[in-house]
Amino acid sequence: MRVAIVGAGPAGLYAAEVLAHEYQTEVDIFEALPVPCGLVRYGVAPDHFSIRSVRDKLVETLDNPKVRFFGNVSIGSDITTDELSKWYDAVIYTYGAAKDRSLGIPGEDHPMSIAATDFVKWYTGHPDAQDFAQHLRNSREVIVIGLGNVAIDVARILIKPISELRTTDMPEHVLSALESSQVRHVRIVGRRGPQHATFTTKELKELGEIPDVDVLVNIDQLPPDDLAASNGDRVVERNLKVLREWANRHDHVSSKSIEFLFFSTPESFDAKNSLFHVHQMEMKSDGEIARKGVSYTIPADLVIRSVGYQGVEMSGLPFDNTGNVIPSENGRILNRERDYVAGWIKRGPSGIIGTNKKDATNTVNQLMQELNALSSQSLEPLRINEILEEREIEYVDVDGWKRIDAAERGLGLARGSERTTIHERSVLLNIARGV
Ligand code: NAP
Repeated sequence: MRVAIVGAGPAGLYAAEVLAHEYQTEVDIFEALPVPCGLVRYGVAPDHFSIRSVRDKLVETLDNPKVRFFGNVSIGSDITTDELSKWYDAVIYTYGAAKDRSLGIPGEDHPMSIAATDFVKWYTGHPDAQDFAQHLRNSREVIVIGLGNVAIDVARILIKPISELRTTDMPEHVLSALESSQVRHVRIVGRRGPQHATFTTKELKELGEIPDVDVLVNIDQLPPDDLAASNGDRVVERNLKVLREWANRHDHVSSKSIEFLFFSTPESFDAKNSLFHVHQMEMKSDGEIARKGVSYTIPADLVIRSVGYQGVEMSGLPFDNTGNVIPSENGRILNRERDYVAGWIKRGPSGIIGTNKKDATNTVNQLMQELNALSSQSLEPLRINEILEEREIEYVDVDGWKRIDAAERGLGLARGSERTTIHERSVLLNIARGV
């Protein structure tokens, strides 16, 4: 049996591990980028060392002789989904949810309004990222919209002293852009209250530990009773405790600040006058949020929208346009015999990295149960390499990835960090080729 996996992020690599290790099944992993690890490489903040170190464990899967890696191969264009279905006994799609969600407000499309997904791509050294150095040179006041962990990551990276980022694996061009950044005030704007935020306490608390940064919270926006407002949710209870401590502090002397503005729904961005308009919201006695009838403006040279990731359709596969996922039942794509899903493209953009392990395992268990009833149809393994070569697709195999890994570690050594991310696709491909 030979299974193809589309996407080498956590869900794909966990699925490969279960297939190869527990079921002794051959696996080919296809990844559009030249390197594995998906959002652990291009999503997790570079200063979150312990979460990022999950990478080392994830890539161990590629050392299993039953697993092959085909990086820099786009399914949907280089190879179609129909072809994959014919060439393998089964396919698992784990390509995640890479697109940003939009707000649908005037001014959103202005160049000084950017998606957090793009900003994160940039500071993690994604090969297709836009450069935001100029944005940071021209911005003193920044608004981050959203109350999730991505919003917290973005706010922290925007304002953290460069000395604390030098030990990360951020590419050099990102570090120099952050060093010459003019950003002084970051406002985190949420349409609902602190008790509705989806950020977690560890991430929230870190904001208070950044040198020369005050965290500002308006005590009137906190609930009258934290215990009642958290309704048994320990994370909410702990978040409220942290926010209340900040709200009670009045010794603000730092040159930079992060301010929380809750109950403020985005209305429009007036980039010409560097103003962001929000509408005030209030919580009704039934717990619902409603417009209060008052608007106000916030200074904003740059707006970063952190309102969630979104899955995108892949040509040839069914798609649920409401949930932005591939519709499935127990991991098998609806009305397909041998096609499966796992990770964010199956269940939407939520959960921690470990959530994908359970999710991928469930899908693989279901797949193996169903596959036993079907006959094998997979191509000879070397035929896949031949097809890629016939199509002149420059794929990166496990050895190529190891060369990239060694080069990044070597670059890191030179500046005293564990590694430095190489961000240009052509450079990554040259290194993979051994050039
Ligand atoms: P998220 O937790 O879903 O947060 C999205 C935020 O956007 C919510 O506050 C949401 O508010 C807001 N929002 C959505 N539509 C909006 C609109 N039209 N106007 C205003 N606000 C709007 O998503 P995320 O922060 O992108 O994180 C994605 C996943 O990655 C999460 O599971 C997260 O925990 C995980 N992650 C974890 C870490 C970490 O552990 N360190 C770091 C990064 C990401 P409403 O609640 O009102 O809809």
